[in-house]
Amino acid sequence: MTILRIVIPSALPGSLDYLAPAGAGAAALSPGMRAAVKLGGRACVGVIAEVADRTEVARERLKPVERVVDAAPVVPASLLELLQWAARYYHQPLGGVLRTAMPLLARRGAAPQIPQSVFWECAGGGEAPPPRAVKQRALLDLLQDCGRLDEAALARRFPGWRPVMRRLLQRRLVTRLEEPAQAAPPPRAARHRLNREQQEAVDAVAAGFGEFHRHLLEGVTGSGKTEVYLALCEQAMQRGEQALVLVPEIALTAQTVERFRAQLAGAVCVFHSGLTDRERFHCWSAALSGDAGVVIGTRSAVFLPFKRLGLAVVDEEHDASYKQSESSFRYHARDVAIKRAQIGALPVVLGSATPSLESLHNALQGRYARRHLTRRAAGAAPPRWRVIDLRGSRLEDGLSPPLLAAMRERLAAREQVLLFLNRRGYAPVMLCRDCGAALSCGRCDARLVYHLCDGRLHCHHCGVSQRPPDACSGCGGGMRLVGLGTEKVERHLAQLFPETDIVRIDTDAVRRKNELQRRLERVRSGDAGIVLGTQMLTKGHHFPAMTLVGIVNADQSLFAADFRAIERLGQLIVQVGGRAGRGAAAGEVMLQTHHPHHPQLQVLLKSGYGAFALQLLPQREAAQLPPYRHLAVIRARSAAGAEAAAFLDLVHRASQECARRHATQVFPPAPMMMEKKAGHYRAQLLLSAADAHSLNACLAALLPAAARLARGRKVRWHLDVDPGEAV
Ligand SMILES: [Zn+2]
Ligand SMILES: [Zn+2]
Repeated sequence: MTILRIVIPSALPGSLDYLAPAGAGAAALSPGMRAAVKLGGRACVGVIAEVADRTEVARERLKPVERVVDAAPVVPASLLELLQWAARYYHQPLGGVLRTAMPLLARRGAAPQIPQSVFWECAGGGEAPPPRAVKQRALLDLLQDCGRLDEAALARRFPGWRPVMRRLLQRRLVTRLEEPAQAAPPPRAARHRLNREQQEAVDAVAAGFGEFHRHLLEGVTGSGKTEVYLALCEQAMQRGEQALVLVPEIALTAQTVERFRAQLAGAVCVFHSGLTDRERFHCWSAALSGDAGVVIGTRSAVFLPFKRLGLAVVDEEHDASYKQSESSFRYHARDVAIKRAQIGALPVVLGSATPSLESLHNALQGRYARRHLTRRAAGAAPPRWRVIDLRGSRLEDGLSPPLLAAMRERLAAREQVLLFLNRRGYAPVMLCRDCGAALSCGRCDARLVYHLCDGRLHCHHCGVSQRPPDACSGCGGGMRLVGLGTEKVERHLAQLFPETDIVRIDTDAVRRKNELQRRLERVRSGDAGIVLGTQMLTKGHHFPAMTLVGIVNADQSLFAADFRAIERLGQLIVQVGGRAGRGAAAGEVMLQTHHPHHPQLQVLLKSGYGAFALQLLPQREAAQLPPYRHLAVIRARSAAGAEAAAFLDLVHRASQECARRHATQVFPPAPMMMEKKAGHYRAQLLLSAADAHSLNACLAALLPAAARLARGRKVRWHLDVDPGEAV
């Protein structure tokens, strides 16, 4: 009797036992193949997690699988091992992990696509085109001369060929042929001109191909980390292996993708959430077949079924978007990539100008090899930093006289200016002139933000919007708008610089499809004089004519309660400042602040990110926070005020025993920083341990108890291991 232990890609816990189909020898079945099964009368496709010869399920209750879908595993053994690790580490059902790891069409059982090449050739018969069909005759002549042509050749030699070809096909004068695509030839040997530091970094990583090594590549902004990745991907492909390059956001790294495509041609696949189901499935298939030499992708690309993965790169490894914090499976793609490299015995490169404290700590402990790129490519000088003390300064809609003067000078010299303000909308506060009451969201503990584009007040946390009231509901006084958002600065700039093209980039401005690309193109082409935006602007852009960066205000993060706020602020300032002076002209960064003597800000500006980060580490150690401790939070929410906290109180009480046994600290539940959100009251329970193993063991003991306690209560709850923000 052959038993197949099958996991359905859904939130169902555990696996289900089925009988292997009659006649299928156990030898032909292996974990990672998909199988079609009936579950409660419904047809599903699952993945075989194990092939066994016994089961606890009674013989008469065992159902046979309907059909084994694949002849070979679509979840290779090393990937299955990774998914099982992730399920244990993040305490998720394996089915939920598989759901994230497989694109929709793969979960439905579609056969992996074999990349096809399409050709057209003369059919040698059919109905001749009429004499006036000049184009049809010309295309037919071309095909007669050339034999067969593919799409690329047709596009090159006969622009506008598609409708003409359609007519020829209707007349049965040509045939369309499909055959398996030839694998792209391995790239030719490196044609890059790498500087000494880049070459040393490439050599250091390449020396360890085929083994698990972790590298931290610290390169100042504009130092050409992409060149290093490219050279390494090429070497991996020459070894017959594939490479995975994780990036924070595809839309913002279009330039990087273009460079990979230019260098490595057809072997580059892109994987992100903006693709159609079919496109995602195509990339998944190409990873599995080995046709994709390099996959550049966001977070979930870390789970693609590579045939022979030989290299993993995590670009901008500090970026918060690697942490999934919305769905139920809250993984960190950087950490999963490292585990994947360990299981698959391959090198992993974490790159950043501003490494996370976690990675820096690992490097200092000797766990990661450390490489530096200290020089900007093409000899560009590092930008000069200048602090503008805003105390007592007369501001025009947030802009100080020195910043405005510098902007005028740069614009007069036909250079570009970037202004960074991390708040979208027009004004973040609407106040009563008389009693001072501020308008808040009724569903969240948050202020409403006024947006000029639709004249409404929006909540950035739950998405509700409303018309601004004519008068204060408390005292009947008039209302006024206070504070600064990107829309307000944009309007002010339009008055100050009527001749200048101003481009605003924030999530409101680029909501329409391709709007971001259009706006970035205006910047790149040099049409735009001023670029204004939020942190969308900080990531990876290369604007050669940008010589001045103004950081309008970053003060709110200096005193934020989240323990990562100051680290993030440092990264943001350095990244946005790094947009200045990447071309021939020297760059300058002006930072406006009311706190010019803030100690951490001082270190950052005087001594750079490295010194800044080194100074934060002992503070984290003293406060018993990551990277010195491992954290997990259980968050709960309820529509009624006290329910969530009451539930977590019970969990806290239930945790005493396992906390002691596994050396884990469990703190009493506390309301979340924003307690009320979207009409729900939220509380959290924090767990902390010196090592991941203890924390994991404590959670394994505690979670079933928590699930029992939640039963019958009106609460929703979830676990977040290694939370992005907490405390
Ligand atoms: Zn009032
Ligand atoms: Zn709200």
